[in-house]
Parts: sequence; structure tokens; C-alpha cells
Amino acid sequence: MSATLRVLPLGGLGEIGKNMTVLEYEDRILLADVGLRFPTAEMLGIDLVLPDFAYLRGRVEDIEAIVVTHGHEDHLGALPFVLRELGADQAPPVYGRPLTMAMARSKLDEHRLRDIQLEGIAPGRRIEAGPFSFELVHMTHSIPDASAVAVTCPLGTVLITGDYKFDQTPVDGPAADMSRLAEFGRDGLLLLCGDSTNADRAGFSPSEAIVGPRLKELFARTQGRIIVTCFASNIHRVQQVVDAAAEVGRKVALVGRSMRKNVNIGRSLGHIDVPEGILVQPREIDDWPDHQLVVISTGSQGEPLSALRRMAHRDHPAVELREGDTVMFSATPIPGNERAVNETVDRLYEIGCEVITTRDEPIHASGHGYAEEIKLMLNLTRPRYVMPMHGDHKRIHLHAALARAVGVDDANIFRGQNGLPLEIDAAGARWGERERAGMIFVDGMDIGDPADVALRDRRMLSADGIFVVVATISEQDGSSVADPEVIMRGVPFRDEADDLVDDIRDAIDTSLEKAAADDVREIDLLQQILHDDVAAFVYDRLKRRPMVLPVVVEV
Ligand SMILES: [Zn+2]
Ligand SMILES: [Zn+2]
Repeated sequence: MSATLRVLPLGGLGEIGKNMTVLEYEDRILLADVGLRFPTAEMLGIDLVLPDFAYLRGRVEDIEAIVVTHGHEDHLGALPFVLRELGADQAPPVYGRPLTMAMARSKLDEHRLRDIQLEGIAPGRRIEAGPFSFELVHMTHSIPDASAVAVTCPLGTVLITGDYKFDQTPVDGPAADMSRLAEFGRDGLLLLCGDSTNADRAGFSPSEAIVGPRLKELFARTQGRIIVTCFASNIHRVQQVVDAAAEVGRKVALVGRSMRKNVNIGRSLGHIDVPEGILVQPREIDDWPDHQLVVISTGSQGEPLSALRRMAHRDHPAVELREGDTVMFSATPIPGNERAVNETVDRLYEIGCEVITTRDEPIHASGHGYAEEIKLMLNLTRPRYVMPMHGDHKRIHLHAALARAVGVDDANIFRGQNGLPLEIDAAGARWGERERAGMIFVDGMDIGDPADVALRDRRMLSADGIFVVVATISEQDGSSVADPEVIMRGVPFRDEADDLVDDIRDAIDTSLEKAAADDVREIDLLQQILHDDVAAFVYDRLKRRPMVLPVVVEV
């Protein structure tokens, strides 16, 4: 009698981002992907969002291995935080393909985690890890060395596709290993956990190979400087920009820390071929005539500190944009980033730049397969059970419909949620009991709770502003000895400011008199009383809850 296999997604379902899946058999764990998400506009001042991995706390010894499908942040980015929190000295080995591991190494170095065992492995090589064994399967995506991972335990094999498309003419390297996928299908695949990102797009995704020729045409007819922005990890795209630049006789400058880092890693592993002498340093940009220059920049998602965003705000040390420059967005905004991208685009127009986005020209190809490719994956692997992953609820729903369309029994399709484990044993598959899942926030290097005080404060400040009230009281009897001071910032209100401030002063005096009558002399307590009274008064008047900071000074 075999045991139960649990497949527990801690992230990546009901959202696009922070992919992390726990596979558990006889209390042993294999972790597939350790990704993060970028914060949305409401998460003020938060740098990163991680999956809540409370489920793994205290269980680091049970983790046999971590396997990472590819080097994108939503699959790899949480690794340093998770390893540090779980205990880096007991960390399990981490497996992935060479580029993925090189990117992992660079992340771990930034967190001073130097003793983690990172194993670069080739597709097809079987790794034993406790009751599991696994192998990577080569896939095509918007980063080299992308893979699916096939995990086998005594009950059968689970295939987690990672992010993929079936690109028949990839820019570099072979097409996805369809014959290996078909072998899993022939041998009987237990469970398929597939990418749902583009389940809402009909047909097949265009090949990455369409982008290069289009870029060349555009480059050839552009007069001034060209700035191309794309994902720094999209090394094939960078290659195509470099090739197009070489063809029209332009030099290339790489701008943005992650762009330079990824191109270096990609070059050292042979994923990108940069012709001799074509690269110029960012500080040399002004030495070249406009028509001889292409700048490749980070910031395609409007990220706050990215190079392009800084250029758009005229705040970049090396590149000063001006009229006549053409900025090409060789990427589409990830859902949630549209606003930041639009804002960046508008700033560029304000400066006088030409802007070309994927709406104007086909200068981008998605890294995720469309509906027909999802069906192809299902038909190749012919899984008994299907659990769509990597998508919001809508896309998971659509992926489930595609599975039904190719003949998977509805009872065998599991539309999952973060924290909901699928339990499979010899008798069948069913949902297990819900485990804790959710988000945790990273602010700088620190990890916090969503209930985090700093975040709550920032939210309050952004919505309703702040009042600072300063009261000066007598050390002898606690009476108010000077007019209270009221300072406010960012408080939206309709009343006349002076009236409001006067009324708040009165409220403070009343509050202090009452406290003195009650013989309250403790400063902390006085500040608390002032806070509550002023907050109540302001709410009464403005129906808003600004932050109130009372300061009581004794003289
Ligand atoms: Zn992804
Ligand atoms: Zn990806």
C-alpha cells in the first residue's frame, strides 16, 4: 500500500507571480520553484512580495531538494529570503540548469549566502532526492535554459511545466523537447501542473524569431538615438537588439544594473553573442552621434528605480533623453504594471521622444504559449489529473476548459488555490485540508507581515495625511501653558484650514483640561488621550482618519 502524495501550491494560483509548489511524500518534501511577486500600487513602500512559507518553517530537514525551472523572478526571486529564514546552514541542495543556477548564485551572493549548494544540471539527468527522483525537460520561454520538471515518486510522475511556449524556431538552442514530453504521456503521467498565463489567447503564440526582422526594419528607418527597453533576463531579445544594431551600424550601450548583470552572465554561458567592439560604456554615450547608437535599458515595466523610468524623469546619470530620441518597448506590461508603464510613456512624450510599443509594431513575442499550445501540452503528456497553475482565477478556469476540450474527465481537473493541497493516493485524487498560504512582504532586506505596522502607516499617510500636535504643559499641575501647535501635511479637507486648526487647538485644550482634572500626568498616557481625542475630532469633521502624532512637552 503506497502512501499519499501531496501537491501544495504556496503561490502562483489566483495570481501571476510568486510560484512555489511543495511536493510531499511520506513526510519528505521536494520544493519546485521559489518565486516572488512585485508589489502593486497599494503596497506602498514594499519592495517585494513573497509567498507565505509558514508551512515549511521548522521543516527544513524534511526538504530533500529545491528545483528551480528557470531564472525569472517569479520562480527564483524568493530563494535567498526563504533559505535565510528556514536556516541557510541546513539548506537542501538547489537544482536547476546552468543559467538558472548562475542567476541564483548572483542573488545569493547579494544576500551573503555563500555556502548554499547549487547544482547545475542538464535536461534528462535523473536526480534522486529521498522518495522522489526528478529530471528537467527542455522548454522554450523568454529566458534561456527554461525547463519543465518531472518529479517521480512511487505513485507516478508529476510534471510541472514551468513557463513555456512551443516555439518552433527559437532564436538560440533547440525547440522544446516534445519527444520527452510524449514519453511521459506514453508511460502514463499522473498529474500535469501547467502554465495558464495565456490560456485566454486563442491559437499559437508567435515565435521569438519574428521580433528580430521587425526591429531591423525599425532601426533602419529611425534617424535619432534608439532606446529599446525589455526584460533584462530576456537574453534572446537582447541578442536580437544587438544583431539589429550591428546590421545598421549602431553601437550598443547597456543601461541598468540588471541588464548589465544578465548580459554578463549570458555571455559567460554562451547564450548571447555580442560582436567585438559594438558595446560602449554608458558614460561614453554622448561621444557617439545619435544615429550610431542604441541603448538597451531596463524599465519595460515602469519599475520605480529602473533606468528607463529615471530617464523619463530626467534623473539618469548617463542618458539624458531629448527630442528626436525613439523609445521602443519590446515587452508588454505584466498585469498590474499598466499604470506605471503608461505613466513612463507619457513622460517620454512630454520630453518629445517618439514611443513605439507592441501596440504599434510587433516588437515583442510572449514567452507563454497560447491556448493551442496548452492543448498540445495536454495531448503530448496525456495526464490522469490536471491542476492548472501560473494564472489568476480566470486563466486557471480557462485552462481547465482547454483540458476538458481535449478529453480530460472533468472530475480529474482540479482548479486549485494557494494553500489547497491536492492529495493523490492509489484510490484517486482529492483536495486535502487547507494550509496556510498568502503573502509576506519584504521591505529592504526585512521580511514582514501584511499587517506590518510600517505598511499600515504608509497607507494612512498616503490616503489621509498626518497631523502633528504639540502641547506644552506645566510640570506642576499639568495645565496647558502655551497655545498648542498643529502641523498638518497631506490632509485633504474641505473646511477652511485656519478654522480647522483653531478648532483642533480648542479640542486639544479641552482634552488637556479634562486630563489635568483627572490628575493624569504620565506623558505616555497624555499623548494617548490627545491622540484619541484629536483623531475622534478630525474624523467627526472630515470623515477621514489621518495619522495623528501627539507630542507633549513638559515645562
Ligand atoms: Zn512565471
Ligand atoms: Zn518565466
